[in-house]
Amino acid sequence: MAYPVLPHWIDGKPSTAPADRVGDIFNPATGEKIAKVAYANPGQVDTAVESARMAGLAWAQVPVTRRSQVFFRFRSLLAEHATELAQMISKEHGKTVDDARGEIARGLEVVEFACGIPQLLKGELSANVSTGVDLTTVREPLGVVAGITPFNFPAMVGLWMYPVAIACGNAFILKPSERDPSVANRIAELFGEAGLPEGVFSVVHGDRVAVERLLEHPDVKAISFVGSTPIARHVYQTGSQHGKRVQALGGAKNHMVVLPDADLELAADGAVSAAYGSAGERCMAISVVAAVGDSADRLIPLLKKRIDKLRVGPASDAETEMGPVITLTQRDRIRALVDEGVEQGATLVSDGRGLEIPGHEKGFFIGPCLFDEVTPEMSIYQEEIFGPVLCVVRCEDFDSALALVNASPYANGTAIFTHDGGAARRFQREIEVGMVGVNVPIPVPLAFHSFGGWKDSIFGSHGIYGREGIHFYTRQKVTTTRWPDPSHRGVNLGFPQPDQ
Ligand code: NAD
Repeated sequence: MAYPVLPHWIDGKPSTAPADRVGDIFNPATGEKIAKVAYANPGQVDTAVESARMAGLAWAQVPVTRRSQVFFRFRSLLAEHATELAQMISKEHGKTVDDARGEIARGLEVVEFACGIPQLLKGELSANVSTGVDLTTVREPLGVVAGITPFNFPAMVGLWMYPVAIACGNAFILKPSERDPSVANRIAELFGEAGLPEGVFSVVHGDRVAVERLLEHPDVKAISFVGSTPIARHVYQTGSQHGKRVQALGGAKNHMVVLPDADLELAADGAVSAAYGSAGERCMAISVVAAVGDSADRLIPLLKKRIDKLRVGPASDAETEMGPVITLTQRDRIRALVDEGVEQGATLVSDGRGLEIPGHEKGFFIGPCLFDEVTPEMSIYQEEIFGPVLCVVRCEDFDSALALVNASPYANGTAIFTHDGGAARRFQREIEVGMVGVNVPIPVPLAFHSFGGWKDSIFGSHGIYGREGIHFYTRQKVTTTRWPDPSHRGVNLGFPQPDQ
């Protein structure tokens, strides 16, 4: 059967260059192959970079007020096409259309932030720092920057990056996940409709071959990466070795601490929503509940009651709350990890391993799984499962829960559920994690703050979007100006001092 091949998007249009390698795109709900995607070779990456370099030179000279107007139009177009984009995502990723609409909405926030670029790029001036001397700091774009994104948010994670990068005056090359790449091309088309000049936003599809070329290309000045920890570490090391700025966000194992005084109904709602939403394939998903004192005994039945009611199925069914996982390999890996959890002695309270969806027997489904009595030595605790599996670890007291979270190598997000203000404040101050929720299970910051974890959940010094994004995608230039005055005459070999 001949499948359509998704092309790269270079110079403001689909690339006509023949693909020497392609990958398969599946519908995870049916297990069927539905399309193919071109995999870029190094030469095709070079073509995209050269197009971006030329376009970026001109774009950097476009007045910031006009750049902002492109983003206002882009924002309207994204909002207008939100359902269409969500359907494209759902078909290749498997998440519900409603959930996919949510990721577009969160991406739109960053576009709205980028609309304010004239305000965000305002420089600093110190007048008269010495006689007749002024000092100004401005931030200038870097040139060509690239973003490499994971499968789990095929629209949103890119939208965390390129609105800020492009608004700052850079040209951007996106290398989306090869699993669900189609929405990237549609967004590129909408950028064109919004008036973004050709070549300022390009999409290069593919696998590690394309990534490696971007990492070593001398004209790519910065790399933003979001994905798993081993690849994030590799991208950070390789990109840095080639002299680039790199921000590389990695994997996660997010803990929710539940204290005995918490509203356990609220905690159970939060844990189930955050653990099983998008089939657990969210970097801010809750994968561990650290239940303090007697809270586990009371919480487990509340969790189970909610899990039993979850409707798992294809996104095409309007009743579905949780879809399949991304690939058959991942489904089998999750099942094997659940098997290991049982073998290693955890109590499997809800078992989703055998789930079959009538009419979708070949879909990549696994039902929600809940483990109790999990300990830190078990593989289900140590591995980032990235599926619908929630582990409850019983902790004696607040201090041991805090120590458990702080001992994890991952430190993306965490949450505490309690009514005790003092405990919440202590948690917020002593926890070694980048994003913290107090009675909020998925504390993803809005676009005017910045997103980013700590430890093995991020490599590099900058978080993503917000002020951190502006700093990452620009470099400062400081100018010292002296307006000539006869009093300045005379040779002086001493180091300049402000009062001279
Ligand atoms: P992944 O690391 O497999 O892939 C991410 C990107 O890297 C893709 O574009 C992929 O093509 C590319 N890639 C894969 N292998 C590569 C290699 N050997 N060399 C170079 N590039 C390579 O991640 P994924 O499975 O697509 O996404 C899930 C992971 O992303 C999870 O670990 C999740 O926690 C993480 N994630 C983190 C955040 C965050 O903000 N920290 C957000 C979303 C997802």
